[in-house]
Amino acid sequence: MSEMQKLVKVFIMGEAYEVPEGSTIIMAMEYAGFQMKRGVGCREGFCGACATVYREKGDYKLKGGLACQTVVSDGMMLAQIPFVPAEKPVYDISELTPDVDTIKILFPTVFRCVACNTCTKACPQEIKVMDYVQALKRGDIAKAADLSFDCIRCGLCALRCPAEIVQYNAATLAQRLYGRYLNKKSPELDERIDEIEEGKYENDLEELIKMPREEITRRYYSREIKLK
Ligand code: SF4
Ligand code: SF4
Repeated sequence: MSEMQKLVKVFIMGEAYEVPEGSTIIMAMEYAGFQMKRGVGCREGFCGACATVYREKGDYKLKGGLACQTVVSDGMMLAQIPFVPAEKPVYDISELTPDVDTIKILFPTVFRCVACNTCTKACPQEIKVMDYVQALKRGDIAKAADLSFDCIRCGLCALRCPAEIVQYNAATLAQRLYGRYLNKKSPELDERIDEIEEGKYENDLEELIKMPREEITRRYYSREIKLK
């Protein structure tokens, strides 16, 4: 840390710590001496492992966010939640039908939605969570799968839902049903799977495994993205 770096005071489990201004919650907790073993993953905002709750100075509201993306502010109060407990039914996708009856059987809580929109406001991915829940209630599996596509399963929507719906697990079901029954067959995908099975990419994979992280990062960010 540079000598000039400004510090802010945060409270972790009620105890005061001074941490560098601009730190994320994870960085602040580690700076304060906490060893993060659970509730932390990619640190890039993609894996959804570090959902956390906090309060800001002078604000009574309990807020939620990803600890790797949320920057601390002076007077912030932090606590760690280990994970969001979630209703997760077991099913065999090959025995299901892509319709509202499947949702009724596996996620009956979805029909308790009171359309309060709290889940949408809680989502760090800016997903229209309430809208995909409504699509599930209508049995519009394709719409639910599409609206929830960017979900990272952080659990923050479920954490705030007054109807105790586990939106992201219901979204996972919609995406599986869509992939299995509704999505148009892709000849390109079949072709690529054949190529993989024939070992066409073995050498490329070996090269990637041995590559230094910096080079992987450089290639990742300079890659060409083909849009549909
Ligand atoms: S839909 Fe829910 S679980 Fe998915 S990213 Fe948004 S808040 Fe997280
Ligand atoms: S928070 Fe729960 S009850 Fe409110 S809109 Fe979202 S799913 Fe429905």
